Amino acid sequence: MDDPEFIFELRVCRWAEQQWPPTRERGDTAVLVARQLGIRSRRYDTLIFECDPAALEARGVFGDERLESDMLHVLTNAPTSYGYYRDVLPDPGYSWNHVRETIHAADDRGLVDTRRNGNRIEIRRRYRYPDWVDRVVAIENKPDLSASAATALADQIERDVALGLADEVWVATEATDDEVAPALYERLPVEAGILAVGETVDVAWNATALATGEPGTRILDRPDGDEHDLSAARFEYASVEWKREKRRQIAERAYERGWRSYVDTMRPDCREFELRDPDIPLPYCRAKGRHVTSAECRHACGSFAPEPPAWRSKGWPIEGGPGKGYKRLLARQRDRRR
Ligand code: SF4
Repeated sequence: MDDPEFIFELRVCRWAEQQWPPTRERGDTAVLVARQLGIRSRRYDTLIFECDPAALEARGVFGDERLESDMLHVLTNAPTSYGYYRDVLPDPGYSWNHVRETIHAADDRGLVDTRRNGNRIEIRRRYRYPDWVDRVVAIENKPDLSASAATALADQIERDVALGLADEVWVATEATDDEVAPALYERLPVEAGILAVGETVDVAWNATALATGEPGTRILDRPDGDEHDLSAARFEYASVEWKREKRRQIAERAYERGWRSYVDTMRPDCREFELRDPDIPLPYCRAKGRHVTSAECRHACGSFAPEPPAWRSKGWPIEGGPGKGYKRLLARQRDRRR
């Protein structure tokens, strides 16, 4: 049987890439989509980044690889004229030795200029790191929602709304005869939007913009609702700076990976592997006769059959076997979306 959640998620990603936002014109906003990214305590299914196209292009000069927070600390604070790094960078809150290593790494990647002044290292900015993300939208994909699944989901969505890390939080679910499982309406916080996914994707309930520019609340623990549970809820505040930093980290990972990177963990070099429609690249296994997940299609798969060497040596169809072709195709699509 197909894994409904995985395939559903890829369909939602594809739709978001083409159609986001559903309730207004896209205008000249650029949209970048990623999946399965987040912070330590929370991984989001689908993330949409609404970007300023010029800023997104300006981000491109830093290369395809993500910029980690220590690298961003250097890049965003390096001055336009040379200065001793300990004088010009704010105290990072970790060792200056680590900052020095990061400066060398940035220099190796051509992202800053450095020079020696005696035994001091001076740095100078080469490019301005742009604020390339305007809004972040999180979508939780739940194709099939029983009442108990809706309750667990509602708890998670309440936490997302209270934290306000994303500008909007949505739940995407399979359209039913009632359009959307009624359990969702009853349990979800009103701020969360609902997408009904069928032949088309329709807004069943519009999302409310969350206050990403204000401190958020992390819900650490809460009573489970049982009348015998007298424990108190526990909260902690998330500062605006913490949220800004996390949004930037997530955006950088999204920039590197996009949503098609699932194929990196699969076996496109297996002769049974197929992308049925490269435009909606759902991985399909001919041996199993259905779509497959990355959990199934991996090294341990008992049905793995390597591509015949002839496919690779005879320049199929251009260079390498179909496996390499699929990887290149998806990488090209990823580049085009940036
Ligand atoms: S046989 Fe296994 S490795 Fe090959 S495509 Fe199917 S699931 Fe993937």
